[in-house]
Amino acid sequence: MIGSENSPPPFNWNAWYEGIGGRTISIDEVNETMWKIHGEQETRFHGEVAAEKHLFATPEEASTTVKQKAKEFGADIVGICAIEPSDIYRGREITEQFAIAVGQRMKWREFQVVPSVASAIECMRIYYTLGETVIRLADWLRSIGWRCQVEHPLGDSDLMHIPIGLKAGFGELGRHGSIIHPELGPLFRMGSVITTMPMALDRPVDAGIAEFCDRCRACRKFCPADAIPDERSPEAGKDHLGNDRYKIDTGRCFPYFARNYYCSICLPVCAYNHKEWAKDFEGFQTKLFPEVVMEEPPDPFDGVAREEKHYYPENRR
Ligand code: SF4
Ligand code: SF4
Repeated sequence: MIGSENSPPPFNWNAWYEGIGGRTISIDEVNETMWKIHGEQETRFHGEVAAEKHLFATPEEASTTVKQKAKEFGADIVGICAIEPSDIYRGREITEQFAIAVGQRMKWREFQVVPSVASAIECMRIYYTLGETVIRLADWLRSIGWRCQVEHPLGDSDLMHIPIGLKAGFGELGRHGSIIHPELGPLFRMGSVITTMPMALDRPVDAGIAEFCDRCRACRKFCPADAIPDERSPEAGKDHLGNDRYKIDTGRCFPYFARNYYCSICLPVCAYNHKEWAKDFEGFQTKLFPEVVMEEPPDPFDGVAREEKHYYPENRR
């Protein structure tokens, strides 16, 4: 299956960073984690597939077993969906038909001040631990004879994580451009494993979140780069509920994100963070609302050629 002609090209991180004068965030723990992902984890993306295929009695049994395994390997949430060409980046091709989406919760206590060194470390930590989960799940699938591919949460994947997460029932698309899970809120990250093994599929959810976003503007108000839209964009395609999507102005977000500890302000300020976490969360006394550090935003950056970047509206330019 090949990516739809209407799909965006893969996000070209190098071109974006080069365009704004390079990478300036340097934190030892973050650098070390990135090295572990690119140096260690990437070497474990592939492996031998066992000659004998285990056949499950029903797609439901396959799905239940896969979900149990993913949780055993560290997933907080797991969902399964069929892959469509619109889920694949333009120019990419895959041979698997199903995606097993896995999500892991980030730690609220690391977002007490945003952006910060602590929140930057947490953003990278979750990519590593999720990477371990998807690699172990892929190893297990190969051990029972099923071909599969790791779609790591950081870096060069063939699939777009957000449409997969929406179809796999992880939640609804928030105004801030991230998925909001009805129980976990937006502070989680996801990756996936794609496979040929038939499984029962999950369904998208309608928990009233998208509708709530139409009235709440907390993330919009706290975005220092003014990148979050007032309105949905009819040109940006539909979400799984048929709504026009909210589209972030990446040309505004990226320069701020890249110079301010990967920003992330829009996630902990989101009204869908469940505040029971803020009390004695894993033994830590945390605040009900983070301290938000807002610096003067850099100029927007639009230097990547239009056909090589994802569509974004130029909000309030
Ligand atoms: S990451 Fe920061 S700059 Fe980007 S949309 Fe969220 S709040 Fe705005
Ligand atoms: S802060 Fe409000 S508007 Fe923004 S994503 Fe969360 S619920 Fe939606």
